[in-house]
Amino acid sequence: MKILVINSGSSSIKFQLLNMKTQELLCKGLIERIGLNDSIFTYEPKDGEKIKKILDIKDHVIGLENAMKMITDEKVGVIKSIDEIKAVGHRIVHGADKILDSVNLTAENIKTVEACVPLAPLHNPANLMGVEAMKKLLPNVIHVGVFDTAFHSTMPQESYIYAIPYEMYEKHGIRRFGFHGTSHKYVAMKAAEKLNIPFDKFNCITVHLGNGSSLTAVKNGKSVDTTLGYGTMCGVPMGTRAGDIDPAIVLHMLDNLGLSTKEVNNILYKKSGLLGLSGISSDMRDIELKIKEGNERAKLALDVFAHQVAKNILALAANLDKIDAIIFTAGIGENGYEAREVIAKRLSVFGIKIDNEKNKIRGEYGIISKEDSQVKLMVVPTNEELMIALDTKRIFEEAK
Ligand code: ADP
Repeated sequence: MKILVINSGSSSIKFQLLNMKTQELLCKGLIERIGLNDSIFTYEPKDGEKIKKILDIKDHVIGLENAMKMITDEKVGVIKSIDEIKAVGHRIVHGADKILDSVNLTAENIKTVEACVPLAPLHNPANLMGVEAMKKLLPNVIHVGVFDTAFHSTMPQESYIYAIPYEMYEKHGIRRFGFHGTSHKYVAMKAAEKLNIPFDKFNCITVHLGNGSSLTAVKNGKSVDTTLGYGTMCGVPMGTRAGDIDPAIVLHMLDNLGLSTKEVNNILYKKSGLLGLSGISSDMRDIELKIKEGNERAKLALDVFAHQVAKNILALAANLDKIDAIIFTAGIGENGYEAREVIAKRLSVFGIKIDNEKNKIRGEYGIISKEDSQVKLMVVPTNEELMIALDTKRIFEEAK
């Protein structure tokens, strides 16, 4: 069975075709600058070379039409006909507390996704553009929405309710939602499989550290708490986002520093985090390079980041009665072994011991703690597309 996975943004679309029998990636592609001049179309079949073309792609339908042509092309294609695609999985950012699992994107469910637009005004409409386009091109197959928020729908009230007047939740729906759910779920499932523990008995803390970062406590295979919240600005510091700060700072910026809401938003969303701390870059590779050159601000950026990540791991542990593993994933989590080492050192209070030699891996699976560590530390490369495809297959089979 072949499943197409679509991750649609407002001006770009990522796609992957997977063979679900073997979970093998058949091809992948990226369409960029949709609606602008000189759109870029990149395509890579599993055993072939990457192809890059400059095309005029005026909208999502034309972009995906080109993708379908490539996938079925005589020379570089990986299937003979688009009829071989049995289902399409779409990444969708926000399902709020309305969509709690992956779903068949029926007209009714699409309406619900639309109702969540105020919570993700940039993402949900862009995701839906991909759904609409693919439904035109493949009208007779099931289209499944896989939501970043869904994995966190199992959080108990004490995790998702903020300590502000309860009416804010009741009347205005202000609560923690959490994000990166597809990644947290995938790496937790993969780690449980590697450790040979049934997922519904598996407890862990997943540490997704990319440009955006969040940590999740998983109890018996379910998310019970996470560091991102109502929006995507809280928790640990990120590439350019501040993470947790005292709300009094926001009020001070607005009331006393003469900054507008837009300016404060820009500071906290685009100019903070690793970039704001270091004054150098939002990219951990640049930070590590500058630390080696003796740059103090770069070191400060890593120290603040590592401190907050470690502190949040320990805080999330309060949700669990045992921890089978702490799992690092995403760009920094998978590759940044210097960062992992600094984070892990701050966990020693609970007898957690990193093995500095085993830790020297980049982008591959591994257990990186010492034999006598109280909790296993693991690196598990994330694969959100495969998770989307697996869920799509599940919903496809349920709908049969
Ligand atoms: P996104 O959230 O955009 O998907 P990624 O998961 O790709 O982000 O993570 C991007 C981050 O991963 C950047 O900070 C980048 O510096 C970091 N990263 C990638 N490769 C390495 C590496 N070899 N060492 C350290 N950090 C890395």
